Amino acid sequence: MVRVLFKKLRGCHGQQEGKTIWVNLATRANPGHTFIHEQLHLKNPTWSETRVRKETTAIWKKLDVKQRLKVYKKLFRGGKK
Ligand SMILES: [Zn+2]
Repeated sequence: MVRVLFKKLRGCHGQQEGKTIWVNLATRANPGHTFIHEQLHLKNPTWSETRVRKETTAIWKKLDVKQRLKVYKKLFRGGKK
């Protein structure tokens, strides 16, 4: 089970360590996009930043509105600071 926390981070959209993902809502980045990005880091620790970015963009593009809503629901379910 992945824990999602919302935090203001300096200079980055998100962060991940162990099974915790931090999403920074104080940026212009799409939080759903950031969430997928950090989940990819978690699942693929050997991937480079460049690869994670590419895969994130590819995944996000393929999602329709309904699927994106699912991502947001999963992201904001916990809603902890
Ligand atoms: Zn990253």
